[in-house]
Amino acid sequence: MQAKIIKVSTVFLTLCWLFMGSAYAQMSDKMPVTIDEINREPWQSYLKIQDFEQQRDSLTSEEYIQFLLLKAQAENLLYFYKKLNQTVALGLELISVDTPIEISGEFYIYAGLKAQREGQYERSIALLTHAIKLAKEHDLSRIYILAKNELAYTRSLFGFYETSLSDIQQAYVDAYALHDQFLIAIINETYGAIYGYLKEYDKSIDYYEKALQTYEALSYKAHIAEAIYGMAATYRYWKKYDLAIEKFNLYIDKLTYTPNTEISYFGHYGLGMTYAEQGSCKKALAIIEQALKLHGPKDYDAELYKRKAVCLLRLGKPNEALQANNQAMTIFKSMPELMGTRWQLGVEKIAASIAHALGDDTKAYQLMRQYHDKYTALIEKNATERLLKVRTMLEVERNDTEIALLKQRAKVQALLSENQQQQIRQQYYLVAFVVFVTIVLLIFLFVQQGYTRKVLAISRRDSLSGLYNRKYVFEFLDKIIETTISEQGDLSVILLDIDDFKLVNDQHGHPFGDEVIREISNICQQSHRKDDIVGRIGGEEFFCILPNADIAEAKRIAQRILDNIAKHVFTTETGEHYSVTVSMGIACINIDAQTSIDLYTQADKALYYAKKIGKNNIVTYQDIKDKGDEHNE
Ligand code: GH3
Ligand code: MG
Ligand code: MG
Repeated sequence: MQAKIIKVSTVFLTLCWLFMGSAYAQMSDKMPVTIDEINREPWQSYLKIQDFEQQRDSLTSEEYIQFLLLKAQAENLLYFYKKLNQTVALGLELISVDTPIEISGEFYIYAGLKAQREGQYERSIALLTHAIKLAKEHDLSRIYILAKNELAYTRSLFGFYETSLSDIQQAYVDAYALHDQFLIAIINETYGAIYGYLKEYDKSIDYYEKALQTYEALSYKAHIAEAIYGMAATYRYWKKYDLAIEKFNLYIDKLTYTPNTEISYFGHYGLGMTYAEQGSCKKALAIIEQALKLHGPKDYDAELYKRKAVCLLRLGKPNEALQANNQAMTIFKSMPELMGTRWQLGVEKIAASIAHALGDDTKAYQLMRQYHDKYTALIEKNATERLLKVRTMLEVERNDTEIALLKQRAKVQALLSENQQQQIRQQYYLVAFVVFVTIVLLIFLFVQQGYTRKVLAISRRDSLSGLYNRKYVFEFLDKIIETTISEQGDLSVILLDIDDFKLVNDQHGHPFGDEVIREISNICQQSHRKDDIVGRIGGEEFFCILPNADIAEAKRIAQRILDNIAKHVFTTETGEHYSVTVSMGIACINIDAQTSIDLYTQADKALYYAKKIGKNNIVTYQDIKDKGDEHNE
């Protein structure tokens, strides 16, 4: 029985949260207090609730049942158990088909916890299981988690620790997924209790500490007191009696928030048991007496009577001890579910010691024998059950771990593939972008180049004839002179001028003159070699550059042009046939002519001479030089 005390009322406190977590959203705004207010200030809230109860008539039936839940919560936190039982009974009575499951589910849990508090564990488990079923059906995860948590705790009271751990583990995983600190704290508190039973005391304290931290952050007075109580009990089992006493006293201190003085029963119970176990029997007896005057649960009283008996025996009062032990036995007999448990067997063991102290060794032997047989049977039964439970537990754990691992793996896989896809997408976009930019750039460059080429070509041409213009012709000549000189090659130029062109214009008009210029341009172009270039450098003056052409070659080309023009028939606008002649001067690169100006000047001189001697003629600068006419020019 001593184990059971650890978590006497936390189970009820959890409902406060349950209420807050699930039904809070649906709470009518008519309610006098909020759930959080009740958790922080249970007594002030309860006073408001009592005031409000006079307005009951103004509430709908659903609002009234909500109100009852609030009331139950406050009564629970204040340890007003009688009132709580009435409120819960009324609530259960009022549940109808229209009542939201969040609310009816909570009343079932309250009912389950009431049964647990009264030692009706089977009924408690049935009610909690019903609440779990309802929660599952309606997907109310918070009710599910809490009912599971309470079921775990109730089972642990039977010693089904492994099953309890498995239950609580499920509750914890779900609570963790909800990220709710308060819910996690409640579960941590249950862990603290179960590990306390399992004698893993340091773990138990750790869990209680965690829970306490959350409760303190929330300023939830009742929860704080409960967590401290849990720690005190664990220290007691751990035989760290001084720490246990310190915590029990702290617990009694923290309980002052409720006007219910009877609740300090549990504090006194803990203190009395601790002093007794520590061997401080006088102190223990005083406190046990105090506790027995407060009205605690009878199974706890049974434990107190057992301790009292042991202490009295130690103090040499076997008759009083016998009386106390018999009182314990009477209580156990009134609670059939506890018969045969180690708590009840403890009474038989004490009875043996008392018989011995009273000098009845035969009875003492009989009682001791009886105790040992029953105790061994109990241990064997527990051991077999425990082995099975451990195996099942291990299997469950392994399955859970595998499922968790698989889930994790799937998650990682999904993340990886998403990452990969994203990378591929990014690469694709990058490539697409680069290709697009490149294409745009290329198109731009192409267009630009074409445009530049066009502009360049236009800038080099003469608009009337389509031949190269004067500027380009002389630039080209400069370049070709340079390569010709460096390669010591030949280069000739022809300067061509239409004869009596003024007359053409005068006789047939300028448009015809223009047409003559165009046609002569064509003839010039068709008459020269592939690499030669022809330009129009003045009104009716043309200039041909003949790379790699010596004087003889230049003469041949000039003659060809001359002949072609002579052959050509020009037709005037009136349809008249007309012929035109030209004169040409030729100059070749030589020691005296090393620049474009030199060549042009010499060609011009030759042309002048050609005009002078009668036009329609070809003269080379060499000719006039040879003839020694130069000084006459
Ligand atoms: P010569 O045989 O001595 O060369 O006599 P010419 O009449 O050809 O010589 P001149 O230099 O006296 O006359 C050239 C004429 O060419 C003058 C001008 O009106 C004409 N001319 C110059 N440019 C153009 C042009 O683009 N179109 C036309 N139709 N006539 C032009
Ligand atoms: Mg001229
Ligand atoms: Mg002329």
